[in-house]
Parts: sequence; C-alpha cells; structure tokens
Amino acid sequence: MVVVTGAASGIGRATALAAGAAGAYVVVADLPQTDGESTAANLRDAGAEAIFVPCDVSDAVQVQALMQATAERFGRLDVLVNNAGISGQGVRLHEVEPDDWEQVMGVNLRGPFLCAKYALPYLMAAGGGAIVNVASTYGLIGAPLSAAYCASKGGLINLTRQLAVDYGRDGIRVNAVCPGYIDTDMGGHRSRLDPVAREAAQARREANAARQPLGRQAQPEEVARVVVFLASQEASFMTGSVVTVDGGCTTT
Ligand code: NAD
Repeated sequence: MVVVTGAASGIGRATALAAGAAGAYVVVADLPQTDGESTAANLRDAGAEAIFVPCDVSDAVQVQALMQATAERFGRLDVLVNNAGISGQGVRLHEVEPDDWEQVMGVNLRGPFLCAKYALPYLMAAGGGAIVNVASTYGLIGAPLSAAYCASKGGLINLTRQLAVDYGRDGIRVNAVCPGYIDTDMGGHRSRLDPVAREAAQARREANAARQPLGRQAQPEEVARVVVFLASQEASFMTGSVVTVDGGCTTT
C-alpha cells in the first residue's frame, strides 16, 4: 500500500505506475486541479488498485485526511513517497520574495514533514515500512538562482537521515533519491517566471545536462525504478541513504 505525493505528473506519476506494476495498491495524491485522476485511471486500466486523493501537502488538515482516507480504503499503509515539489522564482536571493521562499519551503520541506508525521503512526501500526523522499542534486550542491529550492532539498536530505535514526527500531526505513536533470514539466510550475526567464532556465538545464557524464536528461521512469527499489524489501538493509540518480552530474 503506497502513497505517492505529486503523482499527477513527472517522477511521481512514473513512480505510481511503477509501484502499481510491481503489485502495490496506490494512492495518487496531488493538487485538486491536476491530472491525478488520470494517473489513477491508468493504474486501474493496468490492473492495479488505485485512487486519487486531492491534497495540498503543505496543508496539515489535508495531509491528515489523506492518510486517514488511505487507511480507510486499504486498511493499512506501508510506503510513503514524498515526491511533490516546486522550483521557485529563479532569481538571486536578494530578489526572492519572502512569500515565494515560504511557498517553496511549504511544499518541499513542510510537505514531507507533514506527510511523514501523519503517515508514521500507520507505518508503525503495520509493523514497519518505508519512506522515500525525492530530494535533488540541488540539495547536495549550490546551484544558480535556486536559493529556496537548494535550502529545502538540503533540509529534506538531512530530515531523511534524522528519521532513519528515530524510526529504524520500528522497522521503518527512510531513504532519499537525488535526481539530476530529468525531463519533466517541473519548469512548467515556474508560473511566475516571465517567458524570457523561463527560456533562459530551460537553456541552462539543457546545457547542464549536456555537460554531465551521461550527457543527457533522464526520463522520469529512470528515477521511478530507483524509488520503487528503495521502497521494496530488495533494499532491506538501506536506511538513511542518499542515492543520486543524476547521470554522474555531481561527480564533476
Ligand atoms: P512535476 O512538476 O512534473 O511534478 C511535481 C508534482 O508535484 C506536480 O504534479 C504538482 O502538481 C505536484 N505538487 C506541486 N505542489 C504540490 C502541493 N502543494 N501538494 C501536492 N502536490 C503538489 O515535476 P517533477 O520533475 O516530476 O518533480 C518531482 C520531484 O522531483 C520534485 O520534488 C522535484 O523537486 C524533484 N526533482 C526534479 C528534478 C527534475 O529535473 N525534474 C530534479 C531533481 C529533483
């Protein structure tokens, strides 16, 4: 029984589909106005049990309701994938609006905190389980025009290690993946970027991807496979691990 946040698109959607293909029951969680229902329908068409639960991960009441709805529908919860994330304004720190900082932190760091907080009692009740946090290489290194994003993902990486310490004896493993440049709609959520800045950001991504050892962006499925592995018993002795899925970009 797996909950995947931000599962309407990109890495989250690929993870939900991969988890369903591996036999899991899947709760697709995402904002109400997204394609979450279509991810859930695709899962059901492929023979998996799946529902869409609209949820803003930065809202405590909605997150609590998400975990309750999951337990009511499926009777238990074994895996949480904290994938929902946003990128922020794309400016240097002195130009970052405080509200934008709060929004990025709200989704990227408060979201995983709330989801873990309200999922952990169910994971403990199930006798153990796994949390996989989708962080970023930008949580490991500094990157241009991404102060809030880098800070949020750096925080998520160390939250991963901290939760591994506190919940290991409950049989709950907590790991993080750090994707590099992945071909998703992440840029599409930079709605406050003007078209020129968005184009510049896209060009920067493509140039960065071209410079990395594997010389390309990855498909979301290439990250999803690692998330599903970390969530599974195949990774039974892994906890507190931070796994880069980045085509080697943090090696240079
Ligand atoms: P995406 O934009 O395709 O997917 C992100 C999903 O999160 C969307 O479906 C969106 O609706 C959802 N979301 C946003 N705010 C939310 C909220 N408040 N509550 C619930 N859901 C919300 O982008 P993606 O590339 O698939 O990103 C998935 C994760 O991977 C993010 O955490 C991102 O930071 C991380 N990541 C992406 C890349 C990349 O290159 N695409 C690289 C490193 C890390």
